[in-house]
Amino acid sequence: PAGAREIASLTPMMRQYLEVKALHPDTVLFFRLGDFYEMFFEDAVRASELLQITLTARAKGADKIPMCGVPYHSSRRYIAKLVEHGLKVAICEQVTEPGAGPGIVQREVTRVITPGMVLDDEVLEPQASNFLAAVCWGEAGFGAALLEASTGEFYTFEAQGLSELVEGLSRVEPRELLVPAGMREAPEVVQVCQRLSRAPAVAESEGAAFEHTRAAAFLRSHFNVQSLSAFGLDGSPLATGAAGAALRYLKDTQKTPAAHVDRLSRQERAGCLVMDESSRGNLEVLKSLRDGGRKGSLLGVLDRTATGLGARKLARWLSAPLCSLPEIEARLDAVEELSGKSVWREELVATLKEVGDLERLCGRLSLGAGNARDLRALGLSLAQLPRLGAALARCDAALLKSLSGPLGALPELADLLMRAVLDEPPVIIREGGFIRPGFNPELDDLVALSTTGKDYLLKLEQREKDRTGIGSLKIRYNKVFGYYLEVTKANLHAVPKDYIRKQTTVGAERFVTEELKEYEEKVLTAEERRVVLELQLFEELRTKVIAAAPAIRSAAEAVATADALVSFARCAAEYGYTRPQVDSGEGLTITGGRHPVVERMLGAGESFVPNDVRLDPEDAQLLVITGPNMAGKSTVMRQVALTALMAQAGSFVPAKAARIGLCDRIFTRVGAADNLARGQSTFMVEMTETSHILHHATKKSLVILDEIGRGTSTFDGLSIAWAVAEHIHDKVGARALFATHYHELVDLARERPRVKNLCVAVKEQGGKVIFLRKLIPGGASRSYGIEVAKLAGLPPEVVSRARELLQNLESGELDDAGRPRVAVRSTKRVATNAGQLGLFGGAPQPAPVAAPPVPPAHAEVLESLR
Ligand code: ADP
Repeated sequence: PAGAREIASLTPMMRQYLEVKALHPDTVLFFRLGDFYEMFFEDAVRASELLQITLTARAKGADKIPMCGVPYHSSRRYIAKLVEHGLKVAICEQVTEPGAGPGIVQREVTRVITPGMVLDDEVLEPQASNFLAAVCWGEAGFGAALLEASTGEFYTFEAQGLSELVEGLSRVEPRELLVPAGMREAPEVVQVCQRLSRAPAVAESEGAAFEHTRAAAFLRSHFNVQSLSAFGLDGSPLATGAAGAALRYLKDTQKTPAAHVDRLSRQERAGCLVMDESSRGNLEVLKSLRDGGRKGSLLGVLDRTATGLGARKLARWLSAPLCSLPEIEARLDAVEELSGKSVWREELVATLKEVGDLERLCGRLSLGAGNARDLRALGLSLAQLPRLGAALARCDAALLKSLSGPLGALPELADLLMRAVLDEPPVIIREGGFIRPGFNPELDDLVALSTTGKDYLLKLEQREKDRTGIGSLKIRYNKVFGYYLEVTKANLHAVPKDYIRKQTTVGAERFVTEELKEYEEKVLTAEERRVVLELQLFEELRTKVIAAAPAIRSAAEAVATADALVSFARCAAEYGYTRPQVDSGEGLTITGGRHPVVERMLGAGESFVPNDVRLDPEDAQLLVITGPNMAGKSTVMRQVALTALMAQAGSFVPAKAARIGLCDRIFTRVGAADNLARGQSTFMVEMTETSHILHHATKKSLVILDEIGRGTSTFDGLSIAWAVAEHIHDKVGARALFATHYHELVDLARERPRVKNLCVAVKEQGGKVIFLRKLIPGGASRSYGIEVAKLAGLPPEVVSRARELLQNLESGELDDAGRPRVAVRSTKRVATNAGQLGLFGGAPQPAPVAAPPVPPAHAEVLESLR
């Protein structure tokens, strides 16, 4: 900001500012000046704009330095706002008292707050995790580490390719991405940011921090272990490098030993059901596509948790459902028991509501950022645990019972904190005033001395008046002389011998006595000593919390699990869900299934029409679903995927009955959700996603493909859709649902044994379509596009003109412009199933005996695909 010559002309304080700023160039520097944090130069310009505060200027000779400031006491919300904008804020404090030494006050950066390194509960959302992701890469692929500073959660994983990396990261939606220095613009980093649904802020760390041997040494010393094999990091240089860099970043920015980060676990892909970022997004698992909010998402419906801990756990469960039958059954047993016992369930909810965010409280205190309120909140929360533990211990389900163990481990700490800290302590600890009377006798004495002092002085004054007979005698105080007795000139004759003269003023003399001096000594130092002692007690309490951190975290984990299970149980009981049967087969049968989100969003008077779906490796591996737009194709397909996902997360499902063969992955390619914002054409995105699915799906996967090939011309689209369906049937063997408006595709069922046709029924009545929402066997006869367009309010003359054109086309005439006619099949030809025809009025007509010939152009296209 300033050249060398200009620096020479700066005040010592501005020089100090620039020195500090040079050490933290990529941050907004909050520079403490008395009761304010000041910002200068570009920081001031940028911050004043974002925070909407006045930009002023500090005169410096002829030039002016732009500056702005925020009061220390309300700084947190300003910091929060800057961090929300993806900026880093460095807090530079005065570390010496003004006037304590020669020169100006010393200042140091005590903490750097970054989007991924936030501890303040004003900034953190209680239900959401706030992860930092460190990522590095090499020939072997990618290494990643995920670190939640406020809770101490710490994971690593390795990924072979970018998709796998993004998939792993997307489970926790990191706020900040830490990459080696100079890599901010690397294509890998740019792509990761583009592909995550919420782009994280990017930060760089020196490359050496990611270097494998250095990182390993750093991690070994932090965890105080001989080898990293317990963390599953043997032979994983990339994951080790990322983990080392992440932890170092935490320690460097927060300037703490980070004692609460006391474990590191390796995430294995095999452990859970895999969903890539776009599948999770398409299914609206964690947030809705409409506005990215929780409302309208599966999480929004299923989250009935009482604590932030539980809410975060539930989100984790839904983004990484299980693949292991025993674990799923354990959760289902717990949900079954609690869903059946409403009194117990509500009791648990009431107790859970009293438990604060143990993880974050413990994290803040461990990092040295906590205050007395955190101690109090921790005490209150810990005090609830025995009750919660007892409630869980009486349950039959093994998982619930097992949670009571860790909850009983901390009664002493709870008791200590409750005894030590006042009910409503002040936010700032520096001035003391938070320890409860009766906790520490020495402190009680000091408090008594400083508060009962006034009383004592009044008594002393009265005694001296009586002794000397001077009615106007007063005890006063000033900063220079401290306490003194003041006697007017007229009364000087009555002053006793033991008064010591201190000062003469115009109308009076000032004295002290031995007693007054002694008293002053005691009172004045009492206040200082009280604060020092309180801070010392605070540190002692904090040390006890840190020592108990592993136990607190186990308790937090148990609370979170209990809360998530209770939440599932509430949904099961209140929304009419049933327990799914989960097995290791490759079938999937849902009877009377509903879409968990759509059914909750319907308005009054609307009711959700339940549907049956059966997938079977023997004869119904691939279902082709046809039906007009708006009929309910997407809804029914998504509900199948969501039902499988819920079952594997351990939840009951919205159906009369469900049998789910474990899925290893769920893929969805739904609608033409346009990714134009990400700079790719819709069709390109669609094809990229489809090819990803064809490469990665297995026999155990569930594949949902909606309107594939829509983004290109009819023949292209149909051909691609056809070929993709064949490939899934013949080669991949995955269970698949395939919705299409190409009703030609129903012919596939005659060629391939495990393809079945379904359609969503509509009724035609007086030229209008009525959506019945019922899935029935067979293919749709036609697309009803014109009827739907009419429903959407297209002008009547456009609708009737479209009808006319359609008739021309269907009867094989050239269109008005003389273009080659489009191959459109007549109603009868495509209706391959007798059952559905009855729906459109009239008696069911027999299905055609033989397969009708395919029009030449069409046949050629198909031939070219084989
Ligand atoms: P498509 O994919 O066939 O165009 P959608 O699945 O998007 O149709 O469904 C259109 C609308 O119909 C949905 O927004 C939903 O509100 C409603 N809907 C779908 N299925 C049902 C059902 N089974 N019961 C009630 N309403 C439904």
